[in-house]
Amino acid sequence: MTSMTASHAADLVAALLFILSLAGLSQHRTSRAGVVYGIAGMALALVATIVVASQSITAGAIALILAAMAIGAVIGLWRARSVEMTQMPELIAVLHSFVGLAAVLVGWNSYLEVESHGTAQTRIAADLLGIHHAEVFIGIFIGAVTFTGSIVAFLKLSARINSRPLMLPGKNFLNLGALAAFVGLTVWFTVSPSLPLMIVVTVLALALGWHLVASIGGGDMPVVVSMLNSYSGWAAAAAGFLLDNNLLIVTGALVGSSGAYLSYIMCKAMNRSFISVIAGGFGIEAPSSTEEEYGEHREVRAEEAAELLATARSVIITPGYGMAVAQAQHPVAELTRQLRERGVEVRFGVHPVAGRLPGHMNVLLAEAKVPYDIVLEMDEINEDFADTSVVLVIGANDTVNPAAAEDPGSPIAGMPVLRVWEAENVIVFKRSMASGYAGVQNPLFFRENSSMLFGDAKASVDAILLALSGDGRQAAAPAARQTVAG
Ligand code: NDP
Repeated sequence: MTSMTASHAADLVAALLFILSLAGLSQHRTSRAGVVYGIAGMALALVATIVVASQSITAGAIALILAAMAIGAVIGLWRARSVEMTQMPELIAVLHSFVGLAAVLVGWNSYLEVESHGTAQTRIAADLLGIHHAEVFIGIFIGAVTFTGSIVAFLKLSARINSRPLMLPGKNFLNLGALAAFVGLTVWFTVSPSLPLMIVVTVLALALGWHLVASIGGGDMPVVVSMLNSYSGWAAAAAGFLLDNNLLIVTGALVGSSGAYLSYIMCKAMNRSFISVIAGGFGIEAPSSTEEEYGEHREVRAEEAAELLATARSVIITPGYGMAVAQAQHPVAELTRQLRERGVEVRFGVHPVAGRLPGHMNVLLAEAKVPYDIVLEMDEINEDFADTSVVLVIGANDTVNPAAAEDPGSPIAGMPVLRVWEAENVIVFKRSMASGYAGVQNPLFFRENSSMLFGDAKASVDAILLALSGDGRQAAAPAARQTVAG
């Protein structure tokens, strides 16, 4: 078998491993195996690429590639170990920006290579040159949009810039105008390529990426992150065409289409169209509503909450971003275990965009070893709230906001939410009356059946556990005395 055939076989196996990885990652139970398939596919792809490259480049160049890989691996391992779960979306956004930058550099390199060496030494048939020019242009465009778009998403998610949408006059026309200019420039470049056109398309795409994401409000960031994920895939596929690398084309297409599908699922979960997300405007801070408009809120202490829970028939826990901030998943898992031991039915209701990245809550609950079968999706549990004794809203806010369902004027109107307010009692764990990510006040806090348990979510759940154990000791004491007497 020639090394080329071996490399094609390796590409095929790596592509299959990536598909198995995606399939594995779609469910909790199989997600670990999915990660292992992904690592194996990537390791195989790297080895095959270096082996093939080693036949046409110098030993010095191979040494440089290995050094770059070693530096990248060290930085990657360090970041993966040190990153907090709450910083994951911003890390993903930065990683997408690298893919975009790489696609821009590959495009520029490919153009300059053909310019300086002509078609003879670059394996491009003269009659396919027009296609190569279009590939260069499209690759640079997608890459540059992904690059600046991901940087803005990173800055917004890490709160380094305001998450409110940038509202330039005629912003939709600016975006559409940039797209139309790109189409025109591509035709021009295909017919007569030149350096100034390369510079113009790069600057245009960098500006478009920046403006596109800057115009989108914080509430739509989940969709933007998965949209950028999709763009980064298409950028990688474009680079694959330029580098004549089949595996990069397949991998890019897998990332591109899975990111696009995830964006579609999220848009459906928020009852928004993809176009309305791109057009932006969501996440504009609503005029701050005062407490008087909603009435008084009630407070509850941990001991009272424990009492209510101990006598409850059924409990649903709806976690949100605050549970991640407080790292309350372990005490929440312990509370679940203790309540179930007492015969209380406990389940979790997870909103598709709870937290700061898709699947955020599922990961935390799995880490705390909450059984998978009691962790339900919003659609699976929404009908059951009306028949539930107590709902514990642990650090969630936007995802349980009744205004989304009941107030057509609300900025989050139409977003499907967990209908927690239909339960007999709702206890909201948070530190203050502050609004959630979308900057919208939550009328749930002022409902008759709601009470606020103020404080850090972890401290509050710990306090409930303490109260429950006291209650348990009191309950156990007479039995112990009886045994001694007997
Ligand atoms: P929200 O962001 O709406 O609210 C979180 C709440 O947690 C806040 O009101 C905050 O109140 C409370 N909180 C913060 N820290 C603590 C703590 N230590 N202890 C107790 N409470 C705490 O959360 P949701 O999960 O309900 O909604 C997610 C929002 O994020 C949605 O708007 C979604 O669109 C958006 N988003 C989602 C992404 C995703 O992919 N899942 C990505 C990006 C954005 P207080 O300060 O008073 O404690």
